[in-house]
Amino acid sequence: MKIAVVGIGVAGAYIMNKLSQDGDNTVKGFERMPESKHDAVCAWATCENVMADLVKECGLDFSMYVLHKGKNMKVELMDDSIDIKLRGMVAYDKLQLIKDMVRGTDIEFGKVPRKENLESDFDLIVDSTGFHRNYLPKVSNETWIPCVQYKVKYDRNRNPYDDFYLKAFSSMSGYFWYFPLGNGYAHIGAGDFGRKYTIGFLDDFLNTHECEIIHKVGRPVRISPPSLCEPFSDGRKTIGVGESIGTVYALLGEGIVPSTWCAQLFVEHLNDLKQYRNAVLRKFDIYSLVHKFIKMKISGRFSMLRNSRDLLRIYTHMKMNEKRYGMKIEMKNMLKISKL
Ligand SMILES: Cc1cc2nc3c(=O)[nH]c(=O)nc-3n(C[C@H](O)[C@H](O)[C@H](O)COP(=O)(O)OP(=O)(O)OC[C@H]3O[C@@H](n4cnc5c(N)ncnc54)[C@H](O)[C@@H]3O)c2cc1C
Repeated sequence: MKIAVVGIGVAGAYIMNKLSQDGDNTVKGFERMPESKHDAVCAWATCENVMADLVKECGLDFSMYVLHKGKNMKVELMDDSIDIKLRGMVAYDKLQLIKDMVRGTDIEFGKVPRKENLESDFDLIVDSTGFHRNYLPKVSNETWIPCVQYKVKYDRNRNPYDDFYLKAFSSMSGYFWYFPLGNGYAHIGAGDFGRKYTIGFLDDFLNTHECEIIHKVGRPVRISPPSLCEPFSDGRKTIGVGESIGTVYALLGEGIVPSTWCAQLFVEHLNDLKQYRNAVLRKFDIYSLVHKFIKMKISGRFSMLRNSRDLLRIYTHMKMNEKRYGMKIEMKNMLKISKL
């Protein structure tokens, strides 16, 4: 089969790596950014416990990319704060890992291919364009959070924090993050559903803590779950993988692990795309409930009395998967966060 993979983020890179190794298919990648400007717009935080195995499947060693290992994440709430013990959450060099995953594969950079051309040249087209979802039918009523992020560098010993730090905005509409990248570097950014806090909070932070700005990026993150991002296919040759079909855990804005898992499901079910759809809906089933919870919080419709069962289900899911999330999950923290 001739396969086009459009969009070389975590999902596209995983697919390029895996399918370029099998002798059955011919795979060609397309990435809109020129190779010299190829970026991985993201705060680069993930869970080492999960990524280590996924990256090993691609013949690489995840520990080589780790920039900072988290021990404790302080989360400021509106008038309170909590400390979350970290057990595997790290910041890593996401861009370098993507580059190494696709090394030796056939990719045309600086290219946004036209759908008609892809359809005439390939048997299958993978839309792994993330938020853009350029090659799939539009989804109505989506939820996404606009984000702005800076990569910054602090002079020796002038880092405002030495570990992961978050400041949650009211009604769980988003948060400000400070993620250390080692050697004085950090990603600082903010995402807010209503755009109320993003710029003001970031500007204040930059003014208070003197640093060198390396670069600034802006991109929304889709938090609609896969169940609300259907269709995954255009009914012809195109199929979505990764954030293009909503594989982001809305409570954390975390898309690296889920989008790589989604790519793994695609590779497993390459010859049966109906099975792929079902596998994605099953794997990310809980994401629908988490998305509903966040939407209710943002719109002010969440009631502890009426919705406590939903909260308990989310807590139980995360508690049972502490290793996957890379952090200790405690009910008292969950309750404080849900009161935002
Ligand atoms: C500011 C910000 C911070 C984030 N921080 C984190 C974090 O710390 N941890 C975490 O787990 N998740 C984070 N996320 C979410 C995470 O980055 C994404 O969910 C995840 O990277 C999705 O992977 P993907 O491969 O599906 O898409 P992407 O990583 O978005 O990759 C899509 C690729 O497609 C390319 N592309 C787009 N359109 C076209 C086109 N028409 N033709 C060719 N190429 C195209 C893009 O240039 C890009 O390279 C963050 C998101 C944002 C916006």
